[in-house]
Amino acid sequence: TSPEHPLRVAVIGSGPAGFYTTYKLMAKIQGTKVDMYESLPVPFGLVRFGVAPDHPEVKNCQEKFEEVASSPDFRFIGNVSVGTKSDHPDGLTVPLASLFRHYNAIIFAYGAAQDRKLGIPGEDQLKGVYSAREFVGWYNGLPQHANLNPDLTQGEEAVVIGQGNVALDVARMLLEDVDVLRKTDIAAHALETLSQSRVKRVHVVGRRGPMQAAFTIKEVRELMKLSNVSFHPVDTSLLPPDLKSLPRAPRRLMEMLAKGTTAISQSPSETAKSWSLDFCLTPKAFSPSSSSSTPTSTQLASTTFERTTLSPSPFDPNAYALPTGETLTLPSSIAFRSIGYKSTPLPEFSDINIPFDERRGIISNDGRGRVQHEERTRGAEMSHGSFPGLYCAGWVKTGPTGVIASTMENAFATADAIIEDWVSRTPFLNADRNVHGWEGVKSEVLKSGDDKRVVDWQGWRRIDEAERDRGRETGRSREKFTRTGEMLNVLG
Ligand code: FAD
Repeated sequence: TSPEHPLRVAVIGSGPAGFYTTYKLMAKIQGTKVDMYESLPVPFGLVRFGVAPDHPEVKNCQEKFEEVASSPDFRFIGNVSVGTKSDHPDGLTVPLASLFRHYNAIIFAYGAAQDRKLGIPGEDQLKGVYSAREFVGWYNGLPQHANLNPDLTQGEEAVVIGQGNVALDVARMLLEDVDVLRKTDIAAHALETLSQSRVKRVHVVGRRGPMQAAFTIKEVRELMKLSNVSFHPVDTSLLPPDLKSLPRAPRRLMEMLAKGTTAISQSPSETAKSWSLDFCLTPKAFSPSSSSSTPTSTQLASTTFERTTLSPSPFDPNAYALPTGETLTLPSSIAFRSIGYKSTPLPEFSDINIPFDERRGIISNDGRGRVQHEERTRGAEMSHGSFPGLYCAGWVKTGPTGVIASTMENAFATADAIIEDWVSRTPFLNADRNVHGWEGVKSEVLKSGDDKRVVDWQGWRRIDEAERDRGRETGRSREKFTRTGEMLNVLG
């Protein structure tokens, strides 16, 4: 790159994938100019709106992102959604086609904003059935879910369907002492609702067994250590008899489950709250109460599951669940589905023809982040030249799995692919002319007055400061704004 013709990159999304790709790119190709588009007025994606509020240390990666943003070659374009209508009324939208005209490369790093559904009766109709994604967004102050207002006062039992770390986050939020949460940056409305919660018993339910579950030891340990919360024994027939022969990670996890199961210091009857890991159950239906006094009740009363058996063996990490025909009903007035997030194509993609692998829920790519056709020509490697200058990173590249550290690695791999292409003079977008990035896009798509609604990094810093000030007043690290209007009001 040269000062006259720097590499101009548009990054769509300001989560870890967007920032880590930018970091590496700017470090390795001197003079690279990055414009980062974010549909919300505030940055950091799931670091702000996903990671649980009682995990502040996980958010330390924001310091690195701040450092990236301090470069004069970086520009944050907040409150601007690319290729899809903004999901909040104060937001602006720019078409992808405009980015094509004003950048050399576009990096899709827009994460996974939907979730997978169970597809069982009652899921969409009954009050009390929530998606974990919405609940997480709600307690973290995501504007889109600020009105969720889950009713935690109907009963003492809650069911969480799914056994990944998000499911355990949900269980922990329901069980944790509100005075502990009070010190975090949890949304004020969530604190209020959780302080009135009647939930005392949480079932975290999975189709398969402990050897196949997606949760990790740290999250299980945290739940086991909550004060005044006890753990119900797991079905020990699902734990391998010879734990010593297991690899280290599953061995430690199984040992913890076995130990938690036999601990008698905090038996369920002695404590106010409790939780369990309920294995080998497939959800079949959510049902309302059917008492004669409320014949048309729309309030969830129970969830019916079918018991499964694991084949070829419960100890095989790849075992699959087979139905047994036997059912079990768990009464609860609140249930959360937590079976995974899902990426979607930007609506505009179909016109521009950016290939999306619907089955895997990712932008089709060569594994290193180069956008490419879904089909490979028979026997031959597809040339990545078919989509010059288009890349993806993060959850929209790999699917919604892994943690920030793995997202960082896959973002670095995307940056490496871009660097490789740049060095080998592979064609980029608009290679034959000088492009002006945001200045070009802005002059093409913004109407007069729109400019004021675009949030730059300075704007975010002011919102950040205002949130910290609000927090100080109530002895908390931060009190988040939960409406985009409130965020924009800070900027006058
Ligand atoms: P995201 O972080 O989702 O970022 C995508 C960004 O793109 C968002 O800001 C979004 O608003 C923006 N965007 C979307 N569409 C558009 C558009 N059209 N135009 C402009 N911008 C757009 N990892 C850990 O290491 N520790 C944890 O404790 C942890 N807890 C988690 C808890 C939950 C509930 C979840 C869901 C994940 C958790 N993770 C945790 C995983 C971690 O959050 C992810 O690995 C990581 O955030 C993925 O990064 P990303 O940049 O791909 O996506």
